[in-house]
Amino acid sequence: MNFIKWIRYELGLYKNTDYEKQYLYETNFKTAIYMTFIIICLEIWMIIRYVNKRPGRTFLEYFDGETNYLILLSASLIILLFATRYLHDYKRFITGIITSLIILALDISMIVRACYVTSPKDILHLLKSINYQLMLLVLTLGYLIYEILYKNFSKKLSAKYGQILSVIFSIICLCFGVSTSIYDIKNERQILCFVTMVLYVVCLLIWKPFISILITTTVFIWFYEKWLPILQSNTSPYSKNILEGNKINYFTLWISLTLISMSIYQQRLAEAKKDEKLMRVNALLKQQSIEDDLTGISNIKHFVKESKKVMFKDATDLIYLFINIENFKNYNDQFGYQSGNNFLIYIAHSLEDIFPDGIVARWSDDHFVVLTKRTGLDERLNKLNDKVSSNSNREIYLALKVGAYTPLDTLMDPRMAVDKARFACGLIKDVIGVHFKEYDEQVNNEFHRHQYIVNNIDKAIENEYIKVYYQPVVWSSDHTLCSCEALARWIDPEYGFLSPGDFIPLLEEYKQIHKLDKYIWETVCKDMAYAKSLGLKPIPVSLNFSRLDFELINVEETLMSLTEKYKIPKKNIHVEITESALAENTTAIQSSADALAKAGFVIWLDDFGSGYSSLNVLKDFSLDLIKIDMKFLSGFENNDKSKIILKNIVALAKNLNMHTITEGVETKEEATFLHEIGCDRLQGYFFGKPMPINDIIKNIQLKKLVIRKLS
Ligand code: C2E
Ligand code: CA
Ligand code: CA
Repeated sequence: MNFIKWIRYELGLYKNTDYEKQYLYETNFKTAIYMTFIIICLEIWMIIRYVNKRPGRTFLEYFDGETNYLILLSASLIILLFATRYLHDYKRFITGIITSLIILALDISMIVRACYVTSPKDILHLLKSINYQLMLLVLTLGYLIYEILYKNFSKKLSAKYGQILSVIFSIICLCFGVSTSIYDIKNERQILCFVTMVLYVVCLLIWKPFISILITTTVFIWFYEKWLPILQSNTSPYSKNILEGNKINYFTLWISLTLISMSIYQQRLAEAKKDEKLMRVNALLKQQSIEDDLTGISNIKHFVKESKKVMFKDATDLIYLFINIENFKNYNDQFGYQSGNNFLIYIAHSLEDIFPDGIVARWSDDHFVVLTKRTGLDERLNKLNDKVSSNSNREIYLALKVGAYTPLDTLMDPRMAVDKARFACGLIKDVIGVHFKEYDEQVNNEFHRHQYIVNNIDKAIENEYIKVYYQPVVWSSDHTLCSCEALARWIDPEYGFLSPGDFIPLLEEYKQIHKLDKYIWETVCKDMAYAKSLGLKPIPVSLNFSRLDFELINVEETLMSLTEKYKIPKKNIHVEITESALAENTTAIQSSADALAKAGFVIWLDDFGSGYSSLNVLKDFSLDLIKIDMKFLSGFENNDKSKIILKNIVALAKNLNMHTITEGVETKEEATFLHEIGCDRLQGYFFGKPMPINDIIKNIQLKKLVIRKLS
């Protein structure tokens, strides 16, 4: 079995890949350029030599005598032209057309001349005498047709066509080799022309080994048949020895040429295989560098590159879209990662279907971008929404939010344009019923304000544009001061008063929040030390923590070193961690909260009841106090349900041995009710708005805020 396989392999009895075929054809054409060039030079030299050796003849006599040279010269020229055209991909090859027309005229005149010389009755003899001319005619016409119809030829078809022309050319060469050498032998010269031609056809033009063997064997037998009678007619005394010697030489030559041709073939095939592998790896790498791994559509890099090209050509009517799948996180949580991935793939392909003329890419997670024409956009977006809702007919409602941005000029950086579309998209996040937002003047102002905040946080801290405001927290029994909450304010020389709602979410998004928080904590500690230096009784202060603080810095270490540096008792620092941060349940936050509690800091649960997981949080963490979200007080007078809930939360906390505080207290009625149901502490505008440290101190000194004796 292996032996048969080996034989098949050595003889080339198997199908080559398209790449291998193309490679072998191409190397043939490359070789053909050198070889035909050499033949052309040789033939021109032969023609000149012929004329020089036979002076004084008429033009027709020369013409008859040089027919074979002229045919080989012309055939070589045709192949040279073809190979050049194939390898260099000329658009219009006038030289090729003119040369082939001249050759055609020459060939036809040779045929006419042969008809004239040979008796027309002897058709067979005539055909035999013009067989070269006819082959050249086919070759030339073949090339001419190719040259005229070159637009209809693919690279692959061209190569195949060229191979057919090469076969005709090879037959001409072999016939020329045989007939010239037979002529030479008769004139007691060597068989050099025959050997050269076979060598050229079999070894330099590459054929599969079995074809090479077939060609060499046939041509060698054919030549031998013609040669043997001439050798045998030799009457010299050494004729027998000469005959034997020639036979051996001839046989050796046949074997050598066959083996050489086979080995060249295998060598080129190995090169082709190596090349193909490299090409495949390259193609794969190229594909990977432009494709998004999950969805198979373009990635960011490719999107940016292609968008630049499209914009550069013509940016009119173009619009960038940033598409966000709202609620996708919940979908993932509920149906699993794989399901989520399948949904993203579905969206990616829907986008490609709906925007076949645009550029579509996955930007990140559940975000996609499109660069498309504005015309017909509404219709397309409706179609997209239909597709999404038809595929997500499960319990989770998924909606698309689309931000759009129209580029102003052709040179605009696509990343910047996407940033703006993304920003517009962010503005309608969580806004029910709004699915499309275009970047306009108002959005532009907002965008710049955001950029300003993100870019200037360091400067704002350094120049103390960031201030700490303190809001009083009072005991519900007698409204004396029990602590304060530290709240950040940004008073900017350019933008004026910025409230935390403007900058906290942004600083979180850009992972800069820890800078602000560290600064606030330190300022609070400084202020506490300052208040103490004034002889005031120390009061505890609540600090706000972002979920990201626990990821970005070592919260315990920071607080420990601050309290040590400013000599603040740890029990006077209340750590407010929001319910949503704890509900995320990251181990980092859990262990930090435990460590802080162990170190003596007091842990408060902020915004209790604002999320969905409040009760779980109570179950999983040991907390000192829960801060009931101010949403329970909205519409307090008319909402009995809220009152019932508040009452129960306070009761539940008591049962769990936790204190309670309610924030957002704005009226006396609220304060009274909360006291009645047993909520220990209260915070809200009714008792005082957040204010600078000096105002708090002044209020304490003026006894507007009273610190209880035994707190
Ligand atoms: P929060 O921690 O829930 O803070 C309470 C918010 O309610 C404060 O808003 C406060 O001014 C406001 N407030 C207090 N009493 C009343 C009231 O009676 N009625 C009404 N309508 N509002 C009241 P503020 O200062 O705008 O802070 C908003 C949020 O920003 C805070 O919510 C907190 O989550 C965050 N934040 C503020 N400062 C910082 C900080 O330094 N670091 C971090 N990480 N977050 C902060
Ligand atoms: Ca708070
Ligand atoms: Ca709160």
